Amino acid sequence: MTEPRPGPETAAVYAGLEPAMRRALREAREAFGDEEVPVGAVVLDGSGEIIGTGRNDRERSADPTGHAEIVAMRAAAASLGTWRLSGCALVVTLEPCTMCAGASVQARLGRLVYGAVDPKAGAVGSLWDVVRDRRLNHRPEVIAGVLADECGALLTEFFAHRRVR
Ligand SMILES: [Zn+2]
Repeated sequence: MTEPRPGPETAAVYAGLEPAMRRALREAREAFGDEEVPVGAVVLDGSGEIIGTGRNDRERSADPTGHAEIVAMRAAAASLGTWRLSGCALVVTLEPCTMCAGASVQARLGRLVYGAVDPKAGAVGSLWDVVRDRRLNHRPEVIAGVLADECGALLTEFFAHRRVR
């Protein structure tokens, strides 16, 4: 499935999401510094305030669920005092995996925004499309490709760096 590229009518939507994606990229760079796969995420509430941030910390936390999205959604839920993130947006640098796509459905997330596609494990349009599966009764709105090049370049750099060591 190919994502619609931003046309003039959606360019404003993409531009509006760039500050949040830049914040997620900052988290991803922090993960890179900790030698974790550089993926970062933020959760925005209905007014666009950041209510949770996260970065991949699977190695450091020795937690198989330590993906940026899960960390950010946990922080957002804790700050709201509820598991229900309806009306919130998850902004993440890489297309979510099946676990994170599933968690965003469980959280009743309003909108899922991602940067780079993950053709090897992506579950929001690449290998699967968990969040838009019509058999599920909740389907977050998806916006893909925000600052995709920047998000992808960080991952490419990380894996190139790891190969030479
Ligand atoms: Zn994940």
